[in-house]
Amino acid sequence: MAVQSTLILIKPDGLVKSLTGNILSRLSEAKLIITAAKVVRVSRELAEEHYSHLKGKPFFEELIEYIMGEIHHSNRVVAFVYQGDDAITKIRDIVGDTNPEAANPVSIRGAYGRITTTGVFENVVHASSSPEDAEKEIKLWFRPDEIVVDIYPTKEVVLNNIKTRVWA
Ligand code: UDP
Ligand code: MG
Repeated sequence: MAVQSTLILIKPDGLVKSLTGNILSRLSEAKLIITAAKVVRVSRELAEEHYSHLKGKPFFEELIEYIMGEIHHSNRVVAFVYQGDDAITKIRDIVGDTNPEAANPVSIRGAYGRITTTGVFENVVHASSSPEDAEKEIKLWFRPDEIVVDIYPTKEVVLNNIKTRVWA
């Protein structure tokens, strides 16, 4: 057993179906700890980087529109990092197969996912599928200071002349 971290996203269909509480209850069965959480407005850049391994697939553009919330008119996802022994496998077991019709009916995707008429799997949640994917995804979605534990090495940088939004 190894301590792992994994990225979970509640996708736009999970949010419009009002499944957040339900999904979190199911995920709590894994007895892991949440080390980061936030609501994210998903840019095209973030979406394309998150799904870069699927670039070139016929469903890629629709997948990008899906995760950006354009299909569900909900421009957000909720992102979490969970940590604990064998976190990646434990979470993937609860989440279920990528294809909601092939997924175990008691899994989150089996219970709540659907396949669109154009063939995209609207499967309610994302969960990292390997330690390599988890590292890429956690670093993409979170800054080191947004996670309450140290997972990957960090470095300190001084940034000058950075324009940022502050409360007026
Ligand atoms: N996807 C799809 N059709 C496919 C494969 C993937 O619609 O044939 C979508 C689905 O929403 C999936 C996402 O693309 O969750 C990412 O695909 P991946 O193979 O990484 O599956 P996951 O890791 O999400 O189970
Ligand atoms: Mg994947």
